[in-house]
Amino acid sequence: MRTYFVCPAPPCPNGKLHLGHVGGVYLLADMFTRFQRMAGHRAYYITGADEHGTYTLVKARKLGQPVSDVAQKHIHEILQCLRAVQITPDAFVRTSSEIHKENALAIFRELQEAGYVDVRDGVQLYCEHCDEFVADSLAVGTCPACDATTDSNLCENCGLAVQHDTLRDARHTTCGSTLGLRPIKQAVFDMPRLAQVLDKAIGQST
Ligand SMILES: [Zn+2]
Ligand SMILES: [Zn+2]
Repeated sequence: MRTYFVCPAPPCPNGKLHLGHVGGVYLLADMFTRFQRMAGHRAYYITGADEHGTYTLVKARKLGQPVSDVAQKHIHEILQCLRAVQITPDAFVRTSSEIHKENALAIFRELQEAGYVDVRDGVQLYCEHCDEFVADSLAVGTCPACDATTDSNLCENCGLAVQHDTLRDARHTTCGSTLGLRPIKQAVFDMPRLAQVLDKAIGQST
């Protein structure tokens, strides 16, 4: 008997699930889980809500409501959508929950102690007017590669992951002010080294 943890990516609670979400990810994961159970294996369906994406923050600002209220409302809708197609996750983890914070920190610390985390100097866009660091999706400007209008997350036109110090004519979507850069500390995973370890772990698990 094998044990499977089936973990479709947790949706951001900024709206209901549409058919593309359900058909593209959650239904396939459900079919796989059910199939493995029918074949006599243990399978757990684990998903949740990613409340730390900026999509929920953007929606909350648009509505003028607290982020936690907006997240709560959409999590309720997401669970209703899953139930409507008879998908019942074994665990539904909210990223704002204490257990998630504990687990995420434990993984981070273990990686850091093993030397897989590099803390480097970096920069992040900053709005002097609002006196705050600006999240990727709240900065708008011009893509350095294709000149399209983009946020500082991912250029929808050319697919470039836009770094904060390369976004041209950066403005804050909240207030329209021109943005500057401020120094920050960034924790970066040593992916070339981690990839080897992960490859080995995945190889051993099959
Ligand atoms: Zn601003
Ligand atoms: Zn582009």
